[in-house]
Amino acid sequence: MGEKKKKIVKTIKVDVDKCNGCRACEVVCSAFHATPKYGSNNPERSRIRVIRDPLKDIYIPVYAGEYTPSECMGRDKYTIDGKEYDECAFCRASCPSRDLFKEPDSGLPLKCDMCEDDPPQEEPLCVQWCLNDALTYEEREEEEEEEEKPEDLEIGLESLVDKYGLDKIMDTVARMSQKD
Ligand code: SF4
Ligand code: SF4
Repeated sequence: MGEKKKKIVKTIKVDVDKCNGCRACEVVCSAFHATPKYGSNNPERSRIRVIRDPLKDIYIPVYAGEYTPSECMGRDKYTIDGKEYDECAFCRASCPSRDLFKEPDSGLPLKCDMCEDDPPQEEPLCVQWCLNDALTYEEREEEEEEEEKPEDLEIGLESLVDKYGLDKIMDTVARMSQKD
């Protein structure tokens, strides 16, 4: 039995009934992740994207999740309360079958980081900027067994090198490491 260690689980609760599709969340997220920081905003660089279809009164924020090197063997399609959504509408993956959650210049996958890198935020920026309270931030502490596992960074780098080639990754890292 390994040692128990504590971890903080961070959750953003989404109340779709309160979202009016204003896209403020996309604006602030993309600006925060721009180079230089806040130097531009482009929703395609955002780690949250809002599914919008005003004619059907559809506004649903979706967060970027994991990168996957291969697409699913099929597609999913949802109908909720009589409203039909596009294929894979709620999927959070950065996947080869679509352009969503990919950095527009490099094509590299995007993933929500809860804005925790620099500087630490009291609350994620998208939550702070959502004036309709559609997004609510919560934290809780959980205990987990400590176990040896490969670092996320290691797995991520291997997948990226497979997918994009070492030269492209090196270029992107060099660009990202330039000072703002
Ligand atoms: S800021 Fe809030 S209301 Fe506006 S699109 Fe994002 S989640 Fe919806
Ligand atoms: S939590 Fe931060 S990184 Fe994640 S989508 Fe919101 S603004 Fe972007």
